[in-house]
Order: sequence, then structure tokens, then C-alpha cells
Amino acid sequence: MIDVVLHKDRDRAVRRRHPWVLSGAVARLDPPDAGVPGAFVRVLSAAGEVVGWGHLSPGASLRVRLVSFDKEPPPDDWLEQRVARAVERRAAQSLVGETDAVRLVNAEGDALPGLVADRYADTVVVKFTAAGMAVRRDAVAEALRAASGASVGFERADAAASRREGLAARSGPLWGEAPREPIWIRERGRRYRVDLVGGQKTGFYLDQRDARDRVERLAAGRRVLDAFAYTGGFSVAAIHGGARSVTLVESSAPALALARENLAEAPGCEVRAVEADVFRFLREDVEEYDLIVIDPPPLARARRDVTRATRAYKDAVLHALGRAAPGAHLLCFSCSHHVGPDLFRKVVFGASLDAGRSLRVLATLGPPADHPVSLDHPEGTYLNGLLLEA
Ligand code: SAH
Repeated sequence: MIDVVLHKDRDRAVRRRHPWVLSGAVARLDPPDAGVPGAFVRVLSAAGEVVGWGHLSPGASLRVRLVSFDKEPPPDDWLEQRVARAVERRAAQSLVGETDAVRLVNAEGDALPGLVADRYADTVVVKFTAAGMAVRRDAVAEALRAASGASVGFERADAAASRREGLAARSGPLWGEAPREPIWIRERGRRYRVDLVGGQKTGFYLDQRDARDRVERLAAGRRVLDAFAYTGGFSVAAIHGGARSVTLVESSAPALALARENLAEAPGCEVRAVEADVFRFLREDVEEYDLIVIDPPPLARARRDVTRATRAYKDAVLHALGRAAPGAHLLCFSCSHHVGPDLFRKVVFGASLDAGRSLRVLATLGPPADHPVSLDHPEGTYLNGLLLEA
């Protein structure tokens, strides 16, 4: 048994079932030299009361990820049970809708901290973002294989997480044969080619599925701008919805190459795929659009980046407004946990003031139901979107 003993009064978050123990809350490890990456540990209050059980990340500031808050240890098969439950949760959800690309495990949102698994057709792409899951990769793989029935499991390295956790970044098959080339997925009548091995995230932005539906419904007859387009998730939805024209802007050449494949069939729609920096593009472009999507990367990965990030968000929205026709719709997103919904609204408001355009919010947007967030863990929230009318 390895015990992690907390400082006095530092057990409050755990007692509210928050799944993270930060390094500053830890008084000592017992035995002191037992700190191997991913070790299963018992967490004790300063008074010696058991407050939970979890996985240790010895060198990381996020020191323990809790998997149970009971007095007794979780059953030996807790991991298998939770993976099975997570997969069932999706199967039971009519909210996920018709698609063969689904997030099966959303880390803390499924009580499986350090684990993300996305299913694309017959392949499950897995990311281990904490030592506790990485050292149990074989058990995790077997649980995912059994629960999903998928014929291939593939691990994608997460460089930032590996650095944080002091693990070797690993990439390769977990079971079955590694996908050799990008595959096609189907989502609510749309088709996308996805690079599971080299693409961003696990290959595709599954979290924007519901927003893609919105775009599809708003697109008929309209001139659409898809800024920060990646492989054209929103552009394909716009074409599917009957857009008159689609302009897609993306700075990554490999992403753009897949986008071009995704946009190859666009009957009756004028398509322009531009490799460019969006901030510069928006300053130079002279076209007018009726539907504009602005979906930048996480501009604030840490709290210290927030000021710079909000300036960049504002800049993008301000210049996009300069290209917006009267009555245009805008979908603006922020995918940084550190830029929450209130701050994001203020940033967009600032841009609207500078642009001299009054905007109304028609809807707030967020991730779909296969990306659950536990109420115990507000840090799991990251994607904020606004559907606006100019
Ligand atoms: N809208 C996409 C996801 C966007 S993620 C979808 O739904 O699939 C953000 C994208 O912006 C990434 O593909 C990244 O390569 C691109 N990007 C980052 N900075 C950029 C910049 N300054 N100009 C253009 N594209 C950029």
C-alpha cells in the first residue's frame, strides 16, 4: 500500500469529489521512496482518514488523479467496468445521433482521468494523458477492445502530456493493424476523410459535431467563410446545407490537403480553399459573407496566456465582422478552459463595439453529448461557442 498524506485542510477539494490532488496539497508519501509513475495510491487526510484512491504522477504538479472517494478500495475490475459503462453511455444516447465517429471515453467526464478514446468506424484512437493510464495501457486496450468490439486500437502520443508526466511519447497499434492511410467517416449524412495517425487531436474535431449541424441548417444559398478550417468540417456541412460558396482558410498544409479531398464533391457550390494565416487573410480579403465560422486553436493553454489570447480572439472577430454582410450569422468559438463563457462574451462584445456592429446572440454552443463533463470537475469545460446575428 502506498499512502499520499495531505497537508492539514488540503482535503477539502477531495471531499467535494474533485478528482485532482495538486502537488502543493501533498505533505508526504509513505513509504517515501514508493513514488513510481502511475502507482495506485491511497489518499489520506492529515488526520489519517481515507479520503480517496487514485493514480500517482510523481513529478507532475497534478500529483494524484482520484478514481474513488470511498473508504474501501475500488474493486479490481473498476477500470474495465468504467470503460464498459462509458461505451454503453454512448450507445444509449440518441443525442449522439447517426455517426460512426464518437468519443467513447472523455477522461474525467467518464470517471477515467488520463484517458481519451475516440471511435472512428472500426478503429479506436486512444490518448493516454496521465501516467496512471499509460502504465495500464494493456488493461485499458483490452477493456476498450472488449467494450467497443472495434477491430483496431491505435495509440496516439500526446507530447505535452508525456512531458508533464515524464513518460516516453508512444505511438502505434494497441490491437489489430495500424491504419495505413486516412479513412472515411460518416456523420449525420456528411462524409469526412480523417487521418487517424497524423491528424490533429485524434484525427477530427468530434466536439464540433452539433455546431456542424447548425452550420448545415444556416447555409442554404449563402456565402460561407470557414476560418481556422482544419480539414473542412464546417465547410462540408455548409456544402451539404446548400451553400452558394465556401471559402476555407487554414494554415496547415496537411490539413488543407485533406480538406481539398473533403470538398471535392460540391455540386453547385463555388469552393475556395486558401492556405493562409487567418489574421492576415481577414485584413486582405475583400469578399462579403453571410455565414462566418471562426474556430481558432486554443489560444490560451495556460492562465498567463489569457490576455494575449483575448486580443487574438478579438482581432479575429473584429476583422471577420468587417467581411460580414448585413444580417450575416457568425459562429465564434473559444476552446481554452481559461477563457470561460463570460470572458469570451466580453471579448466578442469588444469586437462588436470596435466594428460598430450590434450583435445578438441566437444560441450558445458547446460540445455534444459524447463529451460529458462531470459537475465535480469544472476544468473539463473548454469549448464555448456563440451563434450571433450581425
Ligand atoms: N474548425 C476545425 C477545427 C479548427 S482547430 C474543425 O471543425 O475541424 C484550429 C485550426 O486552425 C487548426 O487546423 C490549425 O492548423 C489552424 N490554425 C492555427 N493558427 C492558424 C492561423 N493563424 N491561420 C490559419 N489557420 C490556423
